[in-house]
Amino acid sequence: MSDVKNAVWTLAEQFDGKLKGVSFELLSRGRTLADKLGTSLVSILIGDGVSDESLNQLIFQGADAVYTVQDPKLAYFVCETYERVLEKLIKEYQPAILLAAATSTGRTLMPYTAVKVHTGLTADCTELDIEVGTGNLLQTRPAIGGNIMATIKTPNHRPQLATVRPKSSRPLPADPARKGDIKKIPLDTSLVAQDVQVKGYRKEESGSLHLEEADIVVSGGKGLKKGENFGMIHKLAESLNAAVGASRDAVDRGWISYPHQIGLSGKTISPKVYIAAGISGAIQHLAGIKTSETIVSINIDPDATLHKLADLGIVGDAFQVIPELQKRLDARYGGKHG
Ligand SMILES: Cc1cc2nc3c(=O)[nH]c(=O)nc-3n(C[C@H](O)[C@H](O)[C@H](O)COP(=O)(O)OP(=O)(O)OC[C@H]3O[C@@H](n4cnc5c(N)ncnc54)[C@H](O)[C@@H]3O)c2cc1C
Repeated sequence: MSDVKNAVWTLAEQFDGKLKGVSFELLSRGRTLADKLGTSLVSILIGDGVSDESLNQLIFQGADAVYTVQDPKLAYFVCETYERVLEKLIKEYQPAILLAAATSTGRTLMPYTAVKVHTGLTADCTELDIEVGTGNLLQTRPAIGGNIMATIKTPNHRPQLATVRPKSSRPLPADPARKGDIKKIPLDTSLVAQDVQVKGYRKEESGSLHLEEADIVVSGGKGLKKGENFGMIHKLAESLNAAVGASRDAVDRGWISYPHQIGLSGKTISPKVYIAAGISGAIQHLAGIKTSETIVSINIDPDATLHKLADLGIVGDAFQVIPELQKRLDARYGGKHG
């Protein structure tokens, strides 16, 4: 490995000994930055029970090295403990940049760490780049209600800390020929917080598909006119084994609950297929769908913004198009497509 100091770090996440997908998304962001700076990319993993095979996967998908502190006492995220472990690593190895995902772990850990190591943090970045000449991290995120994109720098303090929205970047393809160091660092047990204990985790009880993980998402907006009309969206979603999403306008009207909201102030998704019915394509909505592989827009207005971005724009009345689509699916697959 080249530089130990001034490297770019990304924070991997695990649960139950399994690496989360965001760990790989961050590596693709970090790889670009490390290459521009001519430095190493290190994946940091704090947790327990993650196999060597999984750690190697971090190398295959972009990291030059993995520094991991694993111990049963680190199995569950406890902010104070994780911060102390991370702070010790930062002080010892002095990275230039540390990126984390804007998940509940990243959003909790990073502000706490920023305060402890006396540096700045930009949350929820959509773009990251390196400033030519200074090597500073350019951290871009929506500001003032999403009306402008602000680029923020941390010129005087190190490391430069940023969180990045999950699903806003694609992982790099795995290259099993890539080689890298895996440094296993024992836990200094004096860092474990004594006043917080996690007893366990309970799974979310809702039986519906998670928006962020679904391959297909069917969404409705204000064009559906009233809440009851979301019935046809739910039915179509069920036939396609899809999750149900919505625009903020539909959520604000009480037609569907907030966990279904997609966009700047809702969830960011990256499905294989995104089908939007009666959604105009406001910039704040687009912020949540732009990494979707294929976008299908059903809108009565031929000039709707979403039609311009969509791979397939169906100019038509959702109340005709969706029942017709449903009829054909039912005829072909007899209900559930899967
Ligand atoms: C700080 C901030 C954060 C925001 N965050 C989000 C966010 O996270 N997510 C989000 O979605 N928005 C967000 N918004 C709101 C956003 O600006 C838009 O107001 C919202 O996305 C509009 O929702 P919509 O497309 O359902 O409604 P509209 O913009 O009103 O569009 C309705 C569409 O339905 C079409 N239509 C009408 N009748 C039919 C029919 N019969 N068949 C087919 N189409 C039809 C119309 O042509 C129109 O294009 C945010 C705004 C702000 C200021």
